[in-house]
Amino acid sequence: MRFLQSLIASLCIIILSCSLYAKTPVNPPRDTTDISAYKPYIDNNLDKHLKEFIEFVSIPSLSSIASHKGDVRRCAEWLKAKIQSIGIPDAQVLETEGNPVVYANWNQAKGKPTVLIYGHYDVQPVQESMWTNPPFSPKEENGRIYGRGAADDKGGVAIAIWAIEALLQKDGKLPVNIKFLFEGEEEIGSTHLGNFVETHKDILRAEYAYNVDAFQKSDDQPEMVMSVRGGATMEFTLKTANRDLHSGVYGGKAPNAAQILAQLIATFHNSDGKVAVEGFYDKVLPITEEEKAMAAHSDYDEKKELSDYGVAAYTGEKGYSSVERVWYRPTLDVTGVWSGYTADDGFLNIVPGSAHCRLMCRLVANQNTNEILDLIKKHIASHLPEGVILTYKDLGGASIGPAIFSTNTPAFRAAFRVLTILYGKEPMLMGTGGSNGAMSVMMDKLGQQTYSFGFIQEDENYHSHNEFIRISDLKKGQYAFCMLLKYIAAGQK
Ligand SMILES: [Zn+2]
Repeated sequence: MRFLQSLIASLCIIILSCSLYAKTPVNPPRDTTDISAYKPYIDNNLDKHLKEFIEFVSIPSLSSIASHKGDVRRCAEWLKAKIQSIGIPDAQVLETEGNPVVYANWNQAKGKPTVLIYGHYDVQPVQESMWTNPPFSPKEENGRIYGRGAADDKGGVAIAIWAIEALLQKDGKLPVNIKFLFEGEEEIGSTHLGNFVETHKDILRAEYAYNVDAFQKSDDQPEMVMSVRGGATMEFTLKTANRDLHSGVYGGKAPNAAQILAQLIATFHNSDGKVAVEGFYDKVLPITEEEKAMAAHSDYDEKKELSDYGVAAYTGEKGYSSVERVWYRPTLDVTGVWSGYTADDGFLNIVPGSAHCRLMCRLVANQNTNEILDLIKKHIASHLPEGVILTYKDLGGASIGPAIFSTNTPAFRAAFRVLTILYGKEPMLMGTGGSNGAMSVMMDKLGQQTYSFGFIQEDENYHSHNEFIRISDLKKGQYAFCMLLKYIAAGQK
C-alpha cells in the first residue's frame, strides 16, 4: 500500500512536471515581468532613438568589401561610444585577425546571473540600383525605417542597447549582469569569431546567452530557433591527362575526366537517398520525440513551396519528412561541376583531361566538420580508377559546426515564458537548415547554449533590397528585453 501510494505520488509529480514543462514552464509572480516603470522611458525616447538609429544604419559597414574596412571600424567605434553613453563605461573595441568585436561588460549586480547578448554590426552588400531609397541614407516611412542593416542586425543590436538604457536610466542599475558581444564579420561567415572566443573565454563567461540576430514569424506569432546545421565545403579536381585531347584521335582510348567525375558523383548517394560515404551517419543522433513534435507543428506549406520554385516533388532520405530532413538530418550536395568546354568556347571536340567538383555538407549535432571531410576524401580515393590524379583546393574560411539547443535550461525557459506573455501565444520552436556561426561557436568553444531572441519579422527584406524594420518591432523588442532581464533577475528557473 505504502509502495502504491508513493508510486502514485511520484507519477503525479512526473505528470505535473511534464505538463508544466510542456505548456507553461514557470508561472512567474505577477510583477516579475511588469515593465510599466520602463515603458514611458522607451516610448518618450523613441524620436531620440530613431535619430541615433538613422546614424547607425548610415554607416556602410560592409564586411565583404575591402574598401569599406574603415567604415566597419567606424561602426564599431560608434557602437562603443553609444554603449558608454548609456552608462556602461567598460565598452571596448577588441581586435580579431579580421574586423573588430565590440565588447562591453556591466557587472554590478552582485549575486545575480550574467546575461551575454550577441549580435553583429556588419551588413550585407547592396545592389544600389534595386533600392527605392539609397541603402545608406535611411528613411522613415509608414512606420518603418528603410536602410541596409536596419533589420539585420542593427535593429537587433540597437533594441538590446536601448532596453538596457531604459533600465539603467530608471533604476540607476541593472537587475542582472550584462555582457555585449557584437561582431563585424557575421555576413562573411564569422570567420575570426571562433579564435576570438577561444582566446577570450574568461571575459565571455555567462549563465545566459541570447542572439539578437533572429526574427519572429510575424507580429503575433513568436518563434525560437532550436537547432542550426553546420557547414563543410570542399573542392577537388580529377586529372586524367595534362591537357584536353582531340576526341577523334583519342576518343575511345583516353580516360574521360568528366565521365569519371560523373561516375564518382553517382556513388555519393544510395537509392534510398542516404549518403553512401562510409561512417557519415555514425555520430548522428536519432530524432527525439520532442524534435519530431516540433517538426510536425511547424507551419510548413510544402505544396506552396514546390509551386513557388517549380519543383515537381521533393526527394531525399527515405523515412523522414521534408522538415525533418532539413532540420535534423545531414546532407551532401554537389554545388558545382565543371569540365570540358563551355558554350562560350564555341564547339570543341575534346576528351576533357580534367574535371572539377565542389561539394557542400550540412551537418547536424555531434558531427565534426573535419572528420566528415576526411571520410568523404577516403570515399573519393577508394572510388577512382587507377591513374587519375586527385587534388584538393583549400577554399579558406571557417567551417561552421552544428548546434542543438536544449528546452531544459533556465535561459530557454525565460525566453519562452517572456515571448508567451508578450505575444499572448507560445513561440513556435523551429529548427533551421541553415547555419549560424556565432551560435555554433558559442556552443563549440564555451559550451554555451545561445537562444534566439530577435524582433525583426520574416518579411523585412533582410539580405535583399529595400530592407526595413518596423518601428513597432523596435519598441516591442525593448519591452521584451526589459521583461526578460527582470524575469531572470527574479530567479525564475
Ligand atoms: Zn544577421
